[in-house]
Amino acid sequence: MSEHFPALPYPWQHTEWQRLNRQYAENQLPHALMFAGPPGIGKVHLATALAQRLLCQSPVQGSPCGQCHACDLLRAGTHPDWIRIQPEEPGKAIRIDVVRELTQSLSTTAQQGGYKVVLLEPAESMNANSANALLKTLEEPSDRTLLILVSHTPSAVLPTIRSRCQIVGFSLPPGSQVLPWLEALVAGGGVEARRLLALTRGAPLSALALLEGDALEQRQQREQRFIQLCEGQLTAVQLADQWQKADVGAVLEWLLVWLYDLARWQAGAEVEGLDALPDNVRALLNKIPPALLHRYLEKLMAVKSQWLSGANPNKQLLLEELLLDWGVVIRQAKRAA
Ligand SMILES: [Zn+2]
Repeated sequence: MSEHFPALPYPWQHTEWQRLNRQYAENQLPHALMFAGPPGIGKVHLATALAQRLLCQSPVQGSPCGQCHACDLLRAGTHPDWIRIQPEEPGKAIRIDVVRELTQSLSTTAQQGGYKVVLLEPAESMNANSANALLKTLEEPSDRTLLILVSHTPSAVLPTIRSRCQIVGFSLPPGSQVLPWLEALVAGGGVEARRLLALTRGAPLSALALLEGDALEQRQQREQRFIQLCEGQLTAVQLADQWQKADVGAVLEWLLVWLYDLARWQAGAEVEGLDALPDNVRALLNKIPPALLHRYLEKLMAVKSQWLSGANPNKQLLLEELLLDWGVVIRQAKRAA
């Protein structure tokens, strides 16, 4: 897990950051916050910044001093009052025993005599049992404890949990705030910041992550395979077999974004990747009845939240069913052609 020290808010987070700092200064910080918004925009980073701010013994103008004992521990990633809860693997559930252990440790006072800050992410990875185990802590919080729940899909978090948190909503930041930041980071890399941002629909950290390893290439391959499925050169079973070996959550997210773009493109919007496809493929995609496409998107979203909830179904079957259903959509388009 990457731990920045000091974590300073990104340029597009200043409004939220100032609000949180004001709340803290006025002693108005609640016991539980939920940072809610799309993935890839830095919610965890801002939560980390807030934790460091609260745990530092002598912050300087709202930033950790970097000199005190707490800062030393934060830098080393060993501060005992900075607790991070995540699933063991992406896509798995946050287990109930982990939450119970957390509840237990929160009932004792902070080891360094100040705040205890918990980051739980993603909140939608708690199943009903884990969520219920956390409820008591949310209802009867101990003093000087801050829980920060981060959610990329707040609608997938139990309402009983949501209603006990103060929600801090984040939306995709405007390009004007992101591009100068991203351009500086990708300069000389041969890929345009604007293109990366378009591929990730404006999520700056996801855009940056595309430069790591072969992420861009993988993405292109994913699209090629999906087009092959549309054209009947690959069967649903074959593609499901390839995709189940990858990060299924990432595949589902990619497909969702791709199909959203398709819906926008059908409605007349310009979408770079789709405009560049061969004529016959574009003609086929254009024939997909919009109502059918929207129904499919709804199903895909349901499957994605099922996946995120850690229900952990059989990957091959889950993907096969999705892709077979897509085959039905494509057959309708061919019939309409
Ligand atoms: Zn400090």
